Amino acid sequence: MARAGARTEPASEDTAMPPHPIDIDEPKLLRALDAVMPRVADLFDRTRAASAHRDAAATTAPATSPAPTSPADPASLDTHAAGVSRPPYSEAEQRVADLLTEHARDLHLECRVDAYGNGYYTLPGRDREAPGWLCGSHIDSVPRGGHYDGLAGVIAGLAAVAAMREAGAVPAVDVTVMAVRSEEASAWYAGVHGGHIGSRAALGLLPRGELDSAVDSRTGRTLAEQMRLAGFDPDAVGRGDPVLQAARWRGWLELHIEQGPVLETDGHPVGIVTAIRGATRARDCRALGEWTHSGAVPHELRHDALLGATALVQSLAREAAAARAAGDDLTFTVGRFGTEAAEHSITKVPGRVDFCLEFRSQSRAVMERMSALAHGHAAAVGAEWRMQFDLGTFSLQEPAPMCPRLQASMAEGARALGIDAVPIASGAGHDAQDFVHAGFPAAMIFVRNANGSHNPREAMDLDDFRLGTALLAWQLMR
Ligand SMILES: [Zn+2]
Repeated sequence: MARAGARTEPASEDTAMPPHPIDIDEPKLLRALDAVMPRVADLFDRTRAASAHRDAAATTAPATSPAPTSPADPASLDTHAAGVSRPPYSEAEQRVADLLTEHARDLHLECRVDAYGNGYYTLPGRDREAPGWLCGSHIDSVPRGGHYDGLAGVIAGLAAVAAMREAGAVPAVDVTVMAVRSEEASAWYAGVHGGHIGSRAALGLLPRGELDSAVDSRTGRTLAEQMRLAGFDPDAVGRGDPVLQAARWRGWLELHIEQGPVLETDGHPVGIVTAIRGATRARDCRALGEWTHSGAVPHELRHDALLGATALVQSLAREAAAARAAGDDLTFTVGRFGTEAAEHSITKVPGRVDFCLEFRSQSRAVMERMSALAHGHAAAVGAEWRMQFDLGTFSLQEPAPMCPRLQASMAEGARALGIDAVPIASGAGHDAQDFVHAGFPAAMIFVRNANGSHNPREAMDLDDFRLGTALLAWQLMR
């Protein structure tokens, strides 16, 4: 198994500038991309068929299996109704990896695989010693997810280098497309772990213990066992230098479908990501009052945990709205809220409510301010309602800002290509955040996508994909 990224030249400030002039203009790039799009569409179709969800329940339950659009094609029936399922280190994920490798070989790219199963497909540049570009995304999916989440970014990288080949253009530096494993581990594996396994393993950011504490909810296997079964080496984690080191690369570029409705609602095909929002979360909040008789106890003598908890949630929702109105980037979500089923009753004043709080923002300062406000409001609301709150502690997941220089460059690229691209925050996590945390300059391109994500109805228009890919290719040639 060849090690990826075995370059010797360290990065320097000079690598921020193109080492050679570009020998392809924008109209030529777009024509070359048009020429390769039929093969790209075919690759999307074949990888979709290879990862169709085949759970018996999904194809027999009428409520979840709408009429097939193409009854003659069982693969299309499965994926459009029930979605794709590519669990980390599964046969389906491997089938897709194999199809991508086959496609890369047809393009005469240099193909490598690291100890964790991540694939690397390299188009040599003019200066092979200079740090090269790395682009791509993940190839696994959530259970019964959409086909484009992750995979679109890998296929975009392959389409970009195919267009360069088609145009007879040689990039200034090596361009490597990475097919990342196991980004969606959190959707399949319970236990203590942070997901994003393939990228963090390659970047040296994955504690080895997570592979043992992550347990497949269906089979009971640990992630380490599953990785080994798939033919890869969990024990390579933490052994020697990381596969990917920031100094040896020019940067990380990731195209991904937008997983929210913003581009669709505002009518833009492409977004240039400003930052991946961080999150601060209190997972085990409790409102504590007193269980009493709902008819016998007057309101002024009650300690109603539920009315107190709703008052707290409403006051935090008002604070969050005020912060947004003042220009802060912020989401506020109460994902869980309720009295214990074994304890509650219509004839009881609730004595305890369990809930959680989540704030996400591109700004760590905003998240810290909101978690402090939550504690302050909890004290005030508790006093007003004659009850108490225990919010526990807020965890903090840092935001990952995208490289300002790359954002500016891609805005220029969009103008040159005539693409309507707007700045947009990423609310969802992506492999790109791990590259940021490892010191890579990173950028993301979002492609408009209807019907949300992590569901089979996710819908990306190939015309929008073509525009996002043109922008990716433009940047990769710099
Ligand atoms: Zn994704």
